Amino acid sequence: MHEFNSEVEALAKEVLEYSLIRLRDNPPLDGPKTPEELFALAGNTITEKGLGGHETLELFKEVLAKACISTDHPKYLAFIPSAPSEHSILFDLVVGASALYGGSWLEGAGAVFAENQALRWISDLAGLPQSAGGVFVQGGTMGNLSALVAARAHAREKYPDIKRWAIAASAEAHSSIKSAAQVMDVEILLVKPDADRSLQVSEVASAVAKYESENAGHKVFAIVATGGTTNLGIIDDLYGIGTFANKNGIWFHVDGAYGLAALCAPSVRPLFNGVELADSLIVDPHKWLFAPFDACALIYRNPEIAKKAHLQKAAYLEPLDDDGNWNPSDYAIHLTRRARGLPFWFSLAANGTTEYSKAMEETINVAKAAAKLIAQHPNLELVMEPKLSIVAFTRKGWGWDEYNAWSDKLLADQIGLVTPSGLNGEPILRFAIVNPWTKIEDIAEILSTL
Ligand SMILES: *Cc1c(COP(=O)(O)O)cnc(C)c1O
Repeated sequence: MHEFNSEVEALAKEVLEYSLIRLRDNPPLDGPKTPEELFALAGNTITEKGLGGHETLELFKEVLAKACISTDHPKYLAFIPSAPSEHSILFDLVVGASALYGGSWLEGAGAVFAENQALRWISDLAGLPQSAGGVFVQGGTMGNLSALVAARAHAREKYPDIKRWAIAASAEAHSSIKSAAQVMDVEILLVKPDADRSLQVSEVASAVAKYESENAGHKVFAIVATGGTTNLGIIDDLYGIGTFANKNGIWFHVDGAYGLAALCAPSVRPLFNGVELADSLIVDPHKWLFAPFDACALIYRNPEIAKKAHLQKAAYLEPLDDDGNWNPSDYAIHLTRRARGLPFWFSLAANGTTEYSKAMEETINVAKAAAKLIAQHPNLELVMEPKLSIVAFTRKGWGWDEYNAWSDKLLADQIGLVTPSGLNGEPILRFAIVNPWTKIEDIAEILSTL
């Protein structure tokens, strides 16, 4: 299996050729098939003798890849798309070919060094101290959970008599915060945001005071603010909430999985004032920082606190901790890890940070221009001016059925992927623009079908 023979060499060329075509040409949109359809086309792929590399690659190219939507297609605007840069995609191939271990300094010093410089860029943009640091984890869900676990461990040390812990977050916070509370078996106070859906310090302060006075032995150990909600891109009052949390010895976590990428965009940077007060923050380079899946940057103001909570102790691991070096495994809920921050690092190092700011501003400008087109469209109504790069709107007179039918047809016609979302129980449409290849002409084409 491991022998490098002529068949492997030929396969290597085929794989590189396929990757090159994927990079060079516009990505196909494609779309899902049913398990039955796929079985009819692919059959049983796991066999005693094996299909051989060439045949298996053909099967992937002709059947399986075509049943996967290209998340970097310029008219994929649903959920949060991806937009990995050419450099990051190419380097992902290198990471895959290198058998790097990203969990410890002993094994992956060079990789960890580079990942840490990429984390430093984000940390500096946020205004955290030089002692801040963290790790790239799989996604925002894991980043939020790891940060909150560190926060609770720290609170348990400070307040040993507390019986029940709670997280305070906006009712608009991402589902992963509720999931974290469930996994951790802690309570969650969902605080009502203001009319603009942004969480304000006054509501947080009174919710925390009310909860703690009504429940003896209970305490709020963390407040989560969102730096760009997934549905609408709304940013909570980071400065007010952060100041309140800092003053009251409550951990301040900023969930910026989508939005904090825009820390590098001067036009919107002031919206994130107060992020420098965070005890921890996350941002997913696989969302709006042009990196491939799966990479979430998790950064702690004081990484020592996180290490206390997350370090795994075992006899066989002792040589790793004894050397006093930076082991990424120690800063989240994981041990073995792929050096998943490297594609992001490579692209950032190769292109320079100015290119990142420019690409970010481009997506923000397309979002603004899209909002203008929507406002002028006779059938459409803008939900609000976009704060970042998410544009939400409605089609006059439509209910869920019409939205779903339109969305299905848009994909079936291979024009784009735009799925309905909800707001106050009512259907809306939203464009999440994170791809610098998404041009205003692409938006106009989609709008012409409405
Ligand atoms: C996407 C998102 C998450 C979850 O991140 P994953 O990488 O999908 O796990 C968490 N919070 C916010 C605000 C998000 O937009």
